Amino acid sequence: ASARELVLSELVTVPDFPEPGIRFRDLTPAFANPHAFRVIVDTLTAKCGAIDAVAGVEARGFLLAAAAAYATDTSLLAIRKKGKLPGSVLTESYDLEYGNDALEISPDHAPPGTRVLLVDDVLATGGTLAAAARLLTRAEYVVAGVGVVLELAELNGRSALPGQDIHAILTL
Ligand code: IMP
Repeated sequence: ASARELVLSELVTVPDFPEPGIRFRDLTPAFANPHAFRVIVDTLTAKCGAIDAVAGVEARGFLLAAAAAYATDTSLLAIRKKGKLPGSVLTESYDLEYGNDALEISPDHAPPGTRVLLVDDVLATGGTLAAAARLLTRAEYVVAGVGVVLELAELNGRSALPGQDIHAILTL
């Protein structure tokens, strides 16, 4: 089965989670299926060109980024929620449905020009990945590609990431 078919067969949709009116797409079962997880990671890394690093967005993006960095023998870069990283950090805010939040990166763990594959589980409005991409750019890295397991097309997240090479395993 293709990565898309595996994700589709493992995807669980949970109504009214985490709040009434939200249809939550749960990818945890796909990650718990060893064959599906391996195919997902291999597909994400195959769809970008040459890379030097994989960056994941806290927290579910970490699951994918760690495996992808290991599989490609490249650097693992953690894009964390505000306030978790010590030392000098770069910060980018982004809007949520209610209020806003911020992501941070330590810019000193890879040299300028590092080619980075940016990964997360879900592309919804694109606010999260757009902030993550801004952090990588401000750290003087090159975003070689953006990989997600699931893209929710109706939210038009791609428009928040103009010029980026975005690959989604499954688009709903
Ligand atoms: P965005 O910033 O609106 O694109 O939201 C993307 C972020 O929210 C990602 O980090 C996802 O982990 C999370 N997210 C949004 N919707 C879902 C969902 O239906 N299932 C799982 N995660 C989601």
